[in-house]
Amino acid sequence: MEKLLKRLIEKNKHMARHGKVASYIPVLGKASPNDIGICIMDMDGNIYGSGNYRNKFTLQSISKVMALILALLDRGEEEVFSKVGMKPTTEAFNSLYRMDLPDKWIPSNPMLNSGAIITTSLIKGKGREKSDRILELIRDITSNFNIDYEEETYRSEKKTADRNRAIAYLLRDMNLLDGNVEEVLDAYFRQCSIEVDCVDLARIGLFFANKCKSYNIERGEHMATLAVTIMSLCGMYGFSGEYAVKVGVPSKSGVSGGILGVVPNRFGIGVYGPALDRYGNSIVGCKIMEELSKELNLNIFE
Ligand code: GLN
Repeated sequence: MEKLLKRLIEKNKHMARHGKVASYIPVLGKASPNDIGICIMDMDGNIYGSGNYRNKFTLQSISKVMALILALLDRGEEEVFSKVGMKPTTEAFNSLYRMDLPDKWIPSNPMLNSGAIITTSLIKGKGREKSDRILELIRDITSNFNIDYEEETYRSEKKTADRNRAIAYLLRDMNLLDGNVEEVLDAYFRQCSIEVDCVDLARIGLFFANKCKSYNIERGEHMATLAVTIMSLCGMYGFSGEYAVKVGVPSKSGVSGGILGVVPNRFGIGVYGPALDRYGNSIVGCKIMEELSKELNLNIFE
């Protein structure tokens, strides 16, 4: 397995030059575009890694999956999905599309920033308590109690978050966001700044692959099904459809270059490669996932 991972990295790493490291959050711009790492964990807990798989990076949008789970546990499906939809879209992750039209609109899904800011607002607790609960859940899932916020990224995003601020204030104006807007945004920036490596991501993937079993999560199997379904429909933004056809592994990307992959009943996968394609997904990561899926028959639709 490690040989295979190494070969896929060697074969595809040249693609990084066609991508670009995110720089709209200034600290993210410091990442090296040529870094690439991958880790796979199987149901027996065997861990296989290659490349820069122990590099640390922030979760960014991958945290939206955990925020969704907590919002669902705290508020129930009916309330959550009355404020955020379950529709795949081709909108950019930070889109404000349709937010100022007179018709009744809710964000298409909880993987877009607009939808995710709502799910974070629905998590019980005030301000930082919300993101602390996400952090606790991640520490619990990974059994890694060293996982923490990366303060510089948190501050960097908070300082340059005009778009997310605009989204959140519009959401409040539309009666979709309760509570103090700045407090909700602060929790959202904090959850995005949680720092992991590919092993942690693979463990999170395995948690969903294993249907949340052996964790004290209410209706865990159902929660895993919901999260995995939403990931396969919307996890890679406008590329989700193509990714489902080419890769067929429910995944969630983050703008720091991470990809969380879930192969139900088989594997958890963590990939890191900070050079991004135009959708904001790791360009080398997507290609490696495509080839890995073929090599190991991971496509869930096959
Ligand atoms: N923190 C990022 C933002 O809100 C997350 C986006 C992403 O990872 N695609 O802009």
